[in-house]
Amino acid sequence: MNGRPAAGFASDDVLHEECGVVGVYTGIGPAATLAHLALYALQHRGQESAGIASSDGARTWVHKDMGLVSQVFDGGRIAALPGHLAIGHVRYSTMGSARIENAQPLLVASPWGPMALAHNGNLINAPVLRAALEREGVTFQSTTDSEVIAQVIARAPEGTLEDAVAYAMGRIEGAYTITLLVAGTVLGFRDAHAIRPLALGRADRTWILASESCAFDHTAATYVRDVAPGELIVLDAGGMRAQQLLTPRREAHCVFEHIYFARPDTILAGGNVHLGRRRMGQILAREHPARADIVLAVPDSGTSAAMGFADASGIPFEVGLIKNRYIGRTFIQPDQATRDLGVRLKLNPLREVLEGRRVVLVDDSIVRGTTSGKIVRMLRAAGATEVHVRISSPPIRFPCFYGIDTSSRGELVAASKSVEEIRDMIAADSLGYLSQRGLVEALQLPRDRLCMACLDGAYPTAVPEETLAGRHALEGAPRG
Ligand code: SF4
Repeated sequence: MNGRPAAGFASDDVLHEECGVVGVYTGIGPAATLAHLALYALQHRGQESAGIASSDGARTWVHKDMGLVSQVFDGGRIAALPGHLAIGHVRYSTMGSARIENAQPLLVASPWGPMALAHNGNLINAPVLRAALEREGVTFQSTTDSEVIAQVIARAPEGTLEDAVAYAMGRIEGAYTITLLVAGTVLGFRDAHAIRPLALGRADRTWILASESCAFDHTAATYVRDVAPGELIVLDAGGMRAQQLLTPRREAHCVFEHIYFARPDTILAGGNVHLGRRRMGQILAREHPARADIVLAVPDSGTSAAMGFADASGIPFEVGLIKNRYIGRTFIQPDQATRDLGVRLKLNPLREVLEGRRVVLVDDSIVRGTTSGKIVRMLRAAGATEVHVRISSPPIRFPCFYGIDTSSRGELVAASKSVEEIRDMIAADSLGYLSQRGLVEALQLPRDRLCMACLDGAYPTAVPEETLAGRHALEGAPRG
């Protein structure tokens, strides 16, 4: 699903990523051009708003708006963002927060001059910090926790910029990957658990920070390494330097970045995402074999795992569902009849492939289950004689507090139903999920370096009561 409504059914029946960030320091030459290209590569991480802040070291420019990168920027807009430093952001949020004041990069006043900030993740102590800042007289422009981070940095006790970032990193808790542009410097830093990704790339004298390494391919840069947990990267006239600001805690890389958010051509924690997904499919076939004639993917999210399932089972991979890539989230479905038609507009079965065949259908996750049920019915209506659903992730039973919109626990079908009850609900002939052990094996990473909290309830950080009470404690659904 790569952060988008995969099959394009109900946008509330999939997990949503909540932002991508980039930071560029060219030394000479326009940085906004590269930030713009990088945002195209990160578009899957957020389609609601996009923005770039640039600077020549003395002045700062920002342009951001609601919409896709291609809608927000054109040649003229990019030309109006001069300078050799830039940061950029793409954002996803739920409908309630689709507002321009929450678009990023945010621009706030600081002791070092105008400071632009772009954030991916979610703070778990944002309400407490915001209340404290408001008592000090700070007025907020937005309802994002990202602005809380910016204000904590801007109001740090006297010291250098790096001291201020260290002070803020010592106070904010949760998941954060941040790029910052201030005082002729681009900075990037990551929480001590490294929950959300951040990678460093290079092309000659140009340094780039990005949520995913696929952004480097679009900018002719080379992947250097992931930013370490609790590490600060500083890009300025002196080149690149790194500082370990926080003692690294237990690493907790989000497994859903590997399962479906990240692009298949990204490198995460040292491994290629597509190959990891392919191994998930191979292990899934071993754990839940099926007697079938063809293996299908729910496009595009299930494709890599479906190829792995086909590899390991010997059952041929086929294309049985065609996705219309031009139906976006903005498609309005005013009534039930149109909604039913909308299903076929977004995903259409290939009758010539399905007629009389026993099908294995591979997808990456089930959130509410309504989408899976619709696809199973659609395949049967197109002639499939059996539909065996295989999911390349374990059941999602707990909410995420680290920047992924998992819906509340009550909306997660696996939180209240057994696998057999879900199979019955989606009317599949059989249903099998990848085990937690199988997922860890596929990722080729130690389990204690992963966050699997939405699968096993073991959160890598303390989760305060007010966060448990409501994910959107600052208002509707504001996150970066
Ligand atoms: S709880 Fe789940 S979605 Fe959230 S960071 Fe952890 S693994 Fe990722």
